[in-house]
Amino acid sequence: MTPDDAAARRAVKPVICYPTQTLPQPDMALYTAARQGLTTVDQVIVPPRDAASFHVPAGHFFRITSIEGPQVGDLNLWNFNDLSERFYSGKTRALHGTHLTTGHRMWSCLPYLRPMATITHDTLGWYGTDEHGGRVHDVIGTRCDPYTHNLLAGGQYHQCCHSNLTRELAGARGMALEVAEGHVHDVLNVFMCTGFTRDTGQYFMKASPVRPGGHIEFFAEINLLGVLSACPGGDCSSEHSSDAAPCYPLEVTVLRPEENALSGWSAPQINGYDRTHGV
Ligand SMILES: [Zn+2]
Repeated sequence: MTPDDAAARRAVKPVICYPTQTLPQPDMALYTAARQGLTTVDQVIVPPRDAASFHVPAGHFFRITSIEGPQVGDLNLWNFNDLSERFYSGKTRALHGTHLTTGHRMWSCLPYLRPMATITHDTLGWYGTDEHGGRVHDVIGTRCDPYTHNLLAGGQYHQCCHSNLTRELAGARGMALEVAEGHVHDVLNVFMCTGFTRDTGQYFMKASPVRPGGHIEFFAEINLLGVLSACPGGDCSSEHSSDAAPCYPLEVTVLRPEENALSGWSAPQINGYDRTHGV
């Protein structure tokens, strides 16, 4: 039964869960100046329907570029020195919103909760919100995985982003697959265009607006291990857990700023909560 005061209850104004006025802000002017003098120190090609790993020292930049055709990438980040500190998609979403762009940060999990990376450039920054409510670079989706695929369609598909990330991490760190799988986490969906349908609130995707040359660039706030999967969904215009979609490689470059370009900058400390939890 709809209550008599339903309209009044629905009319209550929303409040922002996490007002960000007190959130430590990145020094974008410093980063903007530093990115003028970058030297490429590493370059990795992520093959289609596979993943590749890369190391970004704190104070370096990294850039993910579309090189042959529209392609979505699923990004995992860890503290290079301690894999227990990893990207926290849910809290990043709560702080910045459902999609990320320049000035937003990728936050690490509890109990660390500090910026791991800051987005310093986004060639899709112009996209905004389309007529369907779609936006780019989401922290809504989890990653395509063979378990959900098995649940919904049956079968054994091995090139989902979850498996690509697991294989690559296992190889990069000499870990057993089961151990590596436990470290794989919810991603930043690079170049992916997504939203929620207005009628049913369901997660939707549509063809990525990225084109070859398009890129997103990050500043590494801490020493980072990154693994990027080139999603089997390609541009994610149709399906994402099969070999049906055209898929393209992605390029990752690691870039070093000039010496003294970051004077005044220091890596963020881990979160200040004392972890006594009221005991
Ligand atoms: Zn995927």
